[in-house]
Amino acid sequence: MAPRVVTALDRRKREACGGYHRRAVTRQRVMLRYDLHCHSTASDGLLEPDAMVRLAAERGVDVLALTDHDDTAGLAVAGAAAREAGIELVRGAEVSVSWDDETIHVVALRIDPECETLAAGLHAVRSGRDARARRIAAALEAVGVRGAWEGALRYVTSERLISRAHFARYLVEAGYVRDSRDVFKRYLARGLPGYVEHAWATLADAIAWIRAAGGVAVLAHPGRYRIGARGMRRLVAEFRERGGDAIEVLSPSHDADDVARFAALARRHGLKASQGSDYHGPGESFIEPGDLPELPAGLRPVWSSW
Ligand code: AMP
Ligand code: MN
Ligand code: MN
Ligand code: MN
Repeated sequence: MAPRVVTALDRRKREACGGYHRRAVTRQRVMLRYDLHCHSTASDGLLEPDAMVRLAAERGVDVLALTDHDDTAGLAVAGAAAREAGIELVRGAEVSVSWDDETIHVVALRIDPECETLAAGLHAVRSGRDARARRIAAALEAVGVRGAWEGALRYVTSERLISRAHFARYLVEAGYVRDSRDVFKRYLARGLPGYVEHAWATLADAIAWIRAAGGVAVLAHPGRYRIGARGMRRLVAEFRERGGDAIEVLSPSHDADDVARFAALARRHGLKASQGSDYHGPGESFIEPGDLPELPAGLRPVWSSW
């Protein structure tokens, strides 16, 4: 009896080790590095879409989503670059939404950019940007910033889209502020002299367009929204009700408390979790492409069903 028990135990131990070893190997193979939020010159990033993809590949990203603001114009070039670099490109966009007086961003992932409904929706969102930018320029002029319109235009890289990031670069260049973070502390954020109200897409429309295009909707960097705990619960509930799929839990906009908070919200509301560097280019971002920790335990990654 005794020897058999010993043998059985030995075998279990060996299997456990072998099993562990096999799992470790499999883990290495399947633990892909995901970065599901970044920008290119198709919106307000500094790198061309192909350069963005190459940088991500160099940094060890296996799956990259290009998520330009309100536009999909960079995806074809990015897709070709991804094939060349041997990484996977997730076709995405970051849709600007107005919700309850707050601007919310919804990251779209795995969209078909040819979808007419999505293309028309994004076109409508973009088309409001020119008039808004004119008003931003006028507001800046009114507080003594000279040449804001022409200055911002010099940084615009897509004729289809102007963003506050372009104004920010001009304000830094012209010496009104030290860096782009400073611009948003002194001029371009809500309540400051260079901020103008604007009506973006509704949350319902944005999610509907994304779903029409076969994609999934991710609530981007919720830690940035100034809506309080109750507002956040209401936003997340409405986001889910309307067909939203995931919350961006890991983002350079989030500190450790935010990560824990939004992980808990995702679990409570049965939403998946996403992660992204929100990379805008060298010298402008808090972190490098793909430079993200692991998602907290107990979350379903947004890619779990891909
Ligand atoms: P817009 O879509 O025109 O409102 O511009 C939003 C963009 O401005 C963001 O995607 C960032 O590129 C930039 N931005 C907004 N807030 C900040 C901030 N606090 N620091 C640096 N850049 C910011
Ligand atoms: Mn941006
Ligand atoms: Mn955003
Ligand atoms: Mn972004």
